[in-house]
Amino acid sequence: MDQSWALAVLGVRGSLPSARRECMEYGGDTSCFAVDCGRSLAVFDAGSGLQKLAAYVPEHMRIDIFLSHVHIDHVLGLFAFPPLHDPGKELHIYGEARGGVSFRDQLNTLIGPPYWPLGLADFKARLMLHEIFPGDEITLPGGEVVRTLRGNHPNGSILYRLENGAHSVAYTLDCECTDPIRPALTDFCRGAQVLVWDASFDNEGLARCPGWGHSSWEQGIEMRRAAGAGTVLMAHYSQNYSDTFLREQERLARRAGPETIFAKEGLVMTL
Ligand SMILES: [Zn+2]
Ligand SMILES: [Zn+2]
Repeated sequence: MDQSWALAVLGVRGSLPSARRECMEYGGDTSCFAVDCGRSLAVFDAGSGLQKLAAYVPEHMRIDIFLSHVHIDHVLGLFAFPPLHDPGKELHIYGEARGGVSFRDQLNTLIGPPYWPLGLADFKARLMLHEIFPGDEITLPGGEVVRTLRGNHPNGSILYRLENGAHSVAYTLDCECTDPIRPALTDFCRGAQVLVWDASFDNEGLARCPGWGHSSWEQGIEMRRAAGAGTVLMAHYSQNYSDTFLREQERLARRAGPETIFAKEGLVMTL
């Protein structure tokens, strides 16, 4: 029997957390989405939203964390993630080597003196680092498969698609949807129940920032249609976008494509 999945939105901001009153409706933490598949718990990116995992997702002994890349906004939550200190927990973290530096060495540099008082060796959890390559497929304990695709982003990013026979979520943050990547990205998103989309900008903002490695919500609506996906879930908002601005963008977006949701932290979608 197919079990339902729960997709929890834990962090919706790009670049920087926004702990300002005018950002509290959509949320101020950086990228983090968790999918509770029952036997497996897959977390996409470890931004500052990761700290809220326990508040929205039932406890799992094993947690699989898939990093799109190691830009600071996507790993900020790892510095103070309580399960890392729990000897009863098993954590698997996935990412790629970049610029001749192994994935392990990247995390060792980031999390450790003088940038942080503790290093990877200080954590009590069983910590498994997996160096992956775009194109790899990973199978989770519940039999779900995670597929990967190279994203179009400065220093490179990995996009993920989690699926089993019944459910599918495509996670495509930190990717600029330009012509060269569009066909492969469309295939990757094909038929996904939920498409988590990089809505760092609207089209007007995107035109001012070509090459930054981000997309617009208008492109998300187009991609949902082209790929025949279910719901497009916008995320990775600029830290400068207030709730008032996002509410207006969401109103416009829903008029253009009713299957559109602007992600708000605390939202849990059942698939
Ligand atoms: Zn980012
Ligand atoms: Zn980035």
